[in-house]
Amino acid sequence: MRKPFIAANWKMNKTTADTREFLEKFIPGVKDVTAVDIVIAPPFISLAGAAEMLRGTNVALAAQNAFYEEKGAYTGEISPLMLSDVGCRYVIIGHSERRQYFFEDDGIVNRKIKAAKKAGIGVIVCIGELLAEREGGRTFEVLERQIEKGLREIDPDNTVIAYEPVWAIGTGKTATHEQAQEAHAFIRGRLSVLYGNRAGEFCIIYGGSVTPDNVDSLMACEDVDGALVGGASLKVESFTRIVKFGKVQ
Ligand code: PEP
Repeated sequence: MRKPFIAANWKMNKTTADTREFLEKFIPGVKDVTAVDIVIAPPFISLAGAAEMLRGTNVALAAQNAFYEEKGAYTGEISPLMLSDVGCRYVIIGHSERRQYFFEDDGIVNRKIKAAKKAGIGVIVCIGELLAEREGGRTFEVLERQIEKGLREIDPDNTVIAYEPVWAIGTGKTATHEQAQEAHAFIRGRLSVLYGNRAGEFCIIYGGSVTPDNVDSLMACEDVDGALVGGASLKVESFTRIVKFGKVQ
């Protein structure tokens, strides 16, 4: 049985003071939630402060990106070793916004995953098709390529895959639970081809306009193990409700 995994991706939102304010309210509100892995990914500048506040709690810290080298002349980059040092348990790799704006391809994603693993950090690897690819009937072809190239020779341990249809991110258009289930089952099937019995160790979570209103039906899907949440993770009340999916507040 995989433990449900719910992660907040704050993207380029919240100052250090906003982060502190959020966590002061959020941590006590979820302290009794033991059946879910809860993760928060604030911007880099808030990681150190957040790590202090999260120490000894049931909320883990993640970064939104990392470079694939350990150190050196890479101005502006942050290495997985630095993230581990500051207290990150996870890093998000290959988010569609990084693929779109920073030209990250499956080869770069694969190098970044391997570098994070070498530094002892878990990864949340994002895959998913564009609208034109879905409309052109190429969803499975795209997912297959992203899995085969991006996730090549990766240890399943501490590897979370976020299926994020790009057309559903930040648009308010969530995939139906049938679409999510179909894609997740496909991903699990491809992982079985690559990893045999160990495919069951991968947590596969859904991302794309998850809200308190749709989280319950998404989490009820057999192959949906959790959620990666952008917009609805910025407010304490809505993210708390998502973390407590299935429960009437
Ligand atoms: C995301 O950024 O990974 C995401 C899913 O965003 P949103 O929930 O806002 O669609």
